[in-house]
Amino acid sequence: MSVIDLGLPPVRPAHSGAAPQVPADMPTEGPLVDRFGRVATDLRVSLTDRCNLRCTYCMPAEGLDWLPGDQLLTHDELIRLLRVAVTRLGITSVRFTGGEPLVVRHLEDVIAATAALTPRPEIALTTNGIGLDRRAERLKRAGLDRINVSLDTVDRQRFARITRRDRLADVLAGLRAAKNAGLDPVKVNAVLDPTTGPEDAVELLRFCLRHGYQLRIIEQMPLDAGHTWRRSEVLTADEVLATLRRHFRLTPDPAPRGSAPARLWRVEGDDGLCGTLGIIAAVSQAFCSACDRTRLTADGNVRNCLFARTETDLRSLLRSGADDDALEQAWRAAMWTKAAGHGINEEGFVQPDRPMSAIGG
Ligand code: SAM
Ligand code: SF4
Repeated sequence: MSVIDLGLPPVRPAHSGAAPQVPADMPTEGPLVDRFGRVATDLRVSLTDRCNLRCTYCMPAEGLDWLPGDQLLTHDELIRLLRVAVTRLGITSVRFTGGEPLVVRHLEDVIAATAALTPRPEIALTTNGIGLDRRAERLKRAGLDRINVSLDTVDRQRFARITRRDRLADVLAGLRAAKNAGLDPVKVNAVLDPTTGPEDAVELLRFCLRHGYQLRIIEQMPLDAGHTWRRSEVLTADEVLATLRRHFRLTPDPAPRGSAPARLWRVEGDDGLCGTLGIIAAVSQAFCSACDRTRLTADGNVRNCLFARTETDLRSLLRSGADDDALEQAWRAAMWTKAAGHGINEEGFVQPDRPMSAIGG
């Protein structure tokens, strides 16, 4: 049995190189479904667990025990799994994340190889934006369609406190470069600080309206490496909206939400600037019943949910010589057992052992 050493208790792999156990009632072809009839079409791929920031809600100040190189999927292994996902499992969109995907030097090659798959999936990136100023154009040319840049405040000191690094200027440069490269829309992901969050949200929304970025505010989830998350400290979507309404006119966006996690609002500021705001109320208004995601970690494990307690080890399967049929069925079996909901609000909820940075947000 392979063990993921994060300096934390290991998660239990559901498979480890052995032939997948396929539940008798699971469809072995067609869309990637679970027992509740949800269809996964959106794949989140964590390319690395490493990062150059240390956001307090994600990583400890000292970092983590990074995954050893031989446990990471190679470029060819990753592309093979992506091909299985796209050609056999009906995945139509792939988002690369981490850790910080921009610390991966061959990111452009990964994107180009993904863009060459048939049918071509939509390709997105979630990044902290550091170094994006130098790479945005190349990423776009390689085939990147959409980008989300994480930014929780536009105040330099607060940024340094939240991320434990004084890098606000780099992120702002990255955002500008993404827009100049023609990535559209450029979305800004914000996880708000429990104390300064309301003020940060107002300034961030003004900043995004002024620059033509789309702000997405995400409720903080129990995925921090230190397991210090407290429900009572989460700034909820309703609290954020109440603050923003004092400064902006907000009207619900009439477009159907589908499986998108963000509830969208049309925003108009006093200065006449207009735009769109998304609120992802993952804790206070869970949207698990519409979830269309499947996840692949940098070390080749399939997770059927951010909060899953088990994983399916495709890397060992792949390295033991498994064919694409076996990989496909193992991935299907992993998704089949997806829980109805994340359970954050239920008594007895247990936070997953892997933090957000090692799962891929
Ligand atoms: N390093 C990249 C970044 O920050 O954009 C990609 C990985 S990061 C884990 C992906 C997203 O997860 C970011 O937008 C980040 O703000 C968010 N995130 C991290 N920890 C979180 C938590 N505990 N609750 C909610 N969102 C979180
Ligand atoms: Fe790094 Fe992203 Fe986690 Fe911040 S949220 S520590 S940038 S992985």
